[in-house]
Amino acid sequence: MVMSLEARYEEFWRQSIKQLNEVVKATGLPIAPDEKGQYSLWYDVREMRLRFSISVERIKRFFEGLREGKVYTTRCKRCGRYYFPPQADCPYCKASDMDWVEVSGEGELLTYTIINTKPLTYSHYPDYVVAIARMREGFNVLAWLRVDDSRKVRVGMKVKLQVVKREPEGYLTYEFIPAEQ
Ligand SMILES: [Zn+2]
Repeated sequence: MVMSLEARYEEFWRQSIKQLNEVVKATGLPIAPDEKGQYSLWYDVREMRLRFSISVERIKRFFEGLREGKVYTTRCKRCGRYYFPPQADCPYCKASDMDWVEVSGEGELLTYTIINTKPLTYSHYPDYVVAIARMREGFNVLAWLRVDDSRKVRVGMKVKLQVVKREPEGYLTYEFIPAEQ
């Protein structure tokens, strides 16, 4: 039987607390190696749970776009500035006069980092690449870069922004893929 994500977190957390208690008892400090045994981490003994909710009422078009397999963003009608993720208001013009535009999806990789050590609720993903790319329209996008081998990632490579389903949670989001193989 496949354990649900929640059950996996709970189990992981239970084991972590048990191990942490043993480490504190043995050494007097809540310091232990990370999951790969490479680096020492300080494990706070207090648990903090955080789940936020924010209104997306004024940027609903963006989420409708994801369901259509398209990435939309906003562009100020007055100054022409693009915002990504979309914003309902332009901080420069102090106006709420925005156009919805579909992004080209064509970008060039500016920088990236490979996430080897993950927070608990990301611990079920294989190592992933977080990237920032400059889009053809002139704005930057931060997203995961989906590659089979992270050693192939190069600054300056062409990338394509696409709508994907993030598994195993099953929600729609956007990610980069290399545009050239
Ligand atoms: Zn503006």
